[in-house]
Amino acid sequence: MLAYTYVAQGRFALQDKPKPVIQDPRDAVVRVTLSSICTSDLHIKHGSVPRAVPGITVGHEMVGVVEAVGDAVSSVRPGDRVAVNVETFCGDCFFCRNGWVNNCTDPNGGWALGCRIDGGQAEYVRVPYADQGLTRIPDEVTDRQALFVGDILATGFWAARISEIGREDTVLILGAGPTGLCTLQCVLLRQPKQVIVCEIDPARRDFVRENYPNVCITTPDKVIGLTQKLGEHGGADRVLEVAGTPETFRLAWQCARPNAIVTVVALYNEPQTLPLPEMYGKNLTFKTGGVDGCDCREILDLIAAGKLDTTALITHTFPLSDIAAAYDLFEQRRDGVVKVAIFNDQGN
Ligand SMILES: [Zn+2]
Ligand SMILES: [Zn+2]
Repeated sequence: MLAYTYVAQGRFALQDKPKPVIQDPRDAVVRVTLSSICTSDLHIKHGSVPRAVPGITVGHEMVGVVEAVGDAVSSVRPGDRVAVNVETFCGDCFFCRNGWVNNCTDPNGGWALGCRIDGGQAEYVRVPYADQGLTRIPDEVTDRQALFVGDILATGFWAARISEIGREDTVLILGAGPTGLCTLQCVLLRQPKQVIVCEIDPARRDFVRENYPNVCITTPDKVIGLTQKLGEHGGADRVLEVAGTPETFRLAWQCARPNAIVTVVALYNEPQTLPLPEMYGKNLTFKTGGVDGCDCREILDLIAAGKLDTTALITHTFPLSDIAAAYDLFEQRRDGVVKVAIFNDQGN
C-alpha cells in the first residue's frame, strides 16, 4: 500500500509498504478514506519532533472504515465509519481514569500515530487501543465533517472546556490558523458575551470575517487597547493563546484582566519567559496544552446536531497519490490554504 513516509530530516516520500495487520487483541486496522496535513507533520519533517522515528508513516488526522478488529475490541466492528483519535490511550491508567489521556502511561500513550508508530497518510492504518482511539461517525455526518474531530477539533474543544468560559465573559483568541479556528468554534458554543480574535495574517483575518461575522477581529498591535476597551474589567476574562510566538505569549498575559484564566494551547519552538515581577498582583491562572482528546463522541454529536461545522476549513483536496503537492501547497501557504483533505485514490 502507499504510505507517506518520514525518510530523513527535510524529506518525506510516498513509499510502498505492507498493509498493517492486527498485532494486539485491542488493535483495529482502518482503511483510511480521508486524511489531512497538520503543522505538526511539518515539525516532524524539519526534525523538531525528536521522538519521531525515520521510516515512520506520517499523518495523525484521518477518518476511515474499520477493516479488521482484534478479539478484545468491542466498540467498533468491520465496516463501521470511524474518526481516528490523534492520541493513543489505554483508558485504564491513573491519568486516563482522570480524563488526562494525553499523559497515558502506556509506552505509546499520547501522540504516537504518525510520530512513533505508523500513521494515516496511507491507505491503511493500525490503531492501538481501538476502543479508545476510534469513534463511530453518525450516518448523517460526512467524512469531511468528521475529518478534524480527532486532532484540531479535539484540541479546540478541550481548550474551550478547560478555559471555564461563562456567558458574561469577554474571550480573546490569539491566532486564527486551523487550530485557532477550531478553538473559535468551540468557544462560540459556550456563548460568551463577546469574542475577540487577534491574527497577524490578513488572509486569515478575512477568513474569520467571512465565516464568523459576530466575532471582533484585530491585529497584534491593537489587541491590548481593544481588550481594555471591550473587556469590562480592564482586559479579557479568558485568553486562549493558539498562535505560538514569543509576541503572542506576551500578549496573552498582557491582555488578560486580573484573575483571568490564560490557556496556552500553542506549541512553541523555544522556551518563553514569564516576567513574574511585571504580572505580580494580576493573580492569573495559566493552563497549558497538549490536548486530552477524549471528547470525540460529544464533538461528533455536536456536528450531527449542526452545532459545529469545520468543513469551510477544507480549502483544497488532493488524492493520496499526489500528497507531495498537497504538502507543498500547505507548507508554502499558497492560494489561501487553510487545510487540505487527502482522499484515498488507490482502487477501493
Ligand atoms: Zn495535528
Ligand atoms: Zn492510560
